[in-house]
Amino acid sequence: MAANNNLQMFQFIKRDTRDFINIDPLQTAGLLTDAARDALIEWGDGYSVCDYCNGALDLVKKPPIQEFVYKALPEFLGTDTARVMNGARESKFAVMHSLASTAADKNNYVVMDAWAHYSSKVAAERAGLEIVQTEKPEKEIMPEDFLKAIETGIEKYGKKPLLTLLTYPDGSYGNLADVKKIAAISHEFDVPVLLNGAYAVGRMPVNAKEFGVDYIVGSGHKSMSACGPVGVLGVVGDEAAEQLFRKSAYNKVKEVELLGCTSRGAPIMTLMASFPEVVERTQPENWEKEVHLARGFIQKLEETGKFKLFGQNPHNHDLMFFEAAGFFNISEKAKRGRYFLYDELKDKKIHGIKPGLTKNFKMSTYGLGQEKLDFIADSFIDILKKYDEI
Ligand SMILES: *Cc1c(COP(=O)(O)O)cnc(C)c1O
Repeated sequence: MAANNNLQMFQFIKRDTRDFINIDPLQTAGLLTDAARDALIEWGDGYSVCDYCNGALDLVKKPPIQEFVYKALPEFLGTDTARVMNGARESKFAVMHSLASTAADKNNYVVMDAWAHYSSKVAAERAGLEIVQTEKPEKEIMPEDFLKAIETGIEKYGKKPLLTLLTYPDGSYGNLADVKKIAAISHEFDVPVLLNGAYAVGRMPVNAKEFGVDYIVGSGHKSMSACGPVGVLGVVGDEAAEQLFRKSAYNKVKEVELLGCTSRGAPIMTLMASFPEVVERTQPENWEKEVHLARGFIQKLEETGKFKLFGQNPHNHDLMFFEAAGFFNISEKAKRGRYFLYDELKDKKIHGIKPGLTKNFKMSTYGLGQEKLDFIADSFIDILKKYDEI
């Protein structure tokens, strides 16, 4: 039957970039570990983790989800309590919705940094909260920017915000703001702080208590080598956790903000399977190596005089944003125009710069190691040479 033939196209779809060198910031720290790849197959069937569940997913002992959620994860995040969620955005929404729905009155708002991710904004919108953002800084977000934004909010709404949110690092430039100072400023107003660590948790050392934040969220598929969708949420303090993880009036084991159960099946099992390696790679000495490699890569490109790094320099993260005048010049004369760079990199089996971008692009060096980073930098330089830009 013709209809059946058409349906075949949905079956096995080969992914042609799977064996490429990947520099897409979204993907570099989401590559599965070998253990997670095994877990994906083993636990891929729907509801596979629910065999021994007594009503609460977090309390499943076999596989050891309870041990993970109640012990390993809070220890890793530096929080008192943690949950596995369906993503960073679901975690942010749960916190905002909980604060909004238990607030004394309506018309509430959240203060966010100027680079806040769209998912932070839609989480606030869905929770019925308005948003006040810090002003766009010349270079990086400073604690004073948050002070100003909180004061602006108080003036506009006649009351303090329900929450302060800091993106750490921001997803454009990979800048790490002074989280401790920003948290302290927010706490002077008695406002809790949420740290959006989508690009931090699983890549670099984080500790919510050391940072002085109240909530921390991470993304499993972005930075913890999980297939996803999956994320993590940590809470400091018993009162905040009690409110956020309040139980349903209709079912005494189900938590309302989690809609009863969150991540189940392969996503949570790949998150757990990668966890030992994730813990290891986030040890300070291993993260320092990553930062060192990132800085070396930046230096090699900047020495050509054809690349300029935006944001903190010396840089402190694997996510980086370049201005590449040479690539832009080529795009104006190349046959495929601004798609030339994508084509050239594809030939070299390098994936991750958005098709069509040349003048400004972001990329990540995470987990690639010296040899591949040299290959990438040399490839960039070779492309410039090929078109007589160096
Ligand atoms: C990717 C990203 C998110 C979204 O993460 P999900 O787990 O997919 O919801 C949130 N914030 C920032 C800064 C991000 O880069």
